[in-house]
Order: sequence, then structure tokens, then C-alpha cells
Amino acid sequence: MTSSIAGEIILIFSVMFVIITLASLWFVLSASKMKHKKELQEKKMDILDKHFNEMIRIECPYCKTIYTANVNECPNCGANTKKILFPEIPTT
Ligand SMILES: [Zn+2]
Repeated sequence: MTSSIAGEIILIFSVMFVIITLASLWFVLSASKMKHKKELQEKKMDILDKHFNEMIRIECPYCKTIYTANVNECPNCGANTKKILFPEIPTT
């Protein structure tokens, strides 16, 4: 009688252990998945940002030179100013 109760307790504990192990495994897996997703999102945003910068043209108010937003200052006169002119749809 006592041995069967002990067996039941051991069974319950082992079941609990398995559940806890599975839960922690699932948690680790989902966490790594989330991290991967976040990394992908960041990569995507980086690419989008790059494209967006390439699309935008800036006009220098001093010498009217038009240049991309990748450059912080006018390549002609060196004026550090930004004025968004128009976004261009990439043809490639
Ligand atoms: Zn300029």
C-alpha cells in the first residue's frame, strides 16, 4: 500500500518534471524564434532605410546642387543643410 503511494508520488513528480522541462524548452525555442524575427525585422528596416535614403534627393539652398540623402553636406559647396525635394521611385 505505502509502496504504491510512493510510486504515485514519484510518477506525479516525474510528470511534473517532464512538463517543466517541456515548458522551459518551449520558452527557449520561442525566445530564440522571437530574437530571430527581431533580427530579420532590423535587417529589413536597415535595407528599407538605405533605399529610402537613396530615393530622397536634397537640394542645396546655396548652390542648388541636388544630391542624395546619404551625404550629410553639399558635395559642391559643403553646406550642411538638408531639404527634401522629392522621393524617386527606383527604376531597377
Ligand atoms: Zn551647395
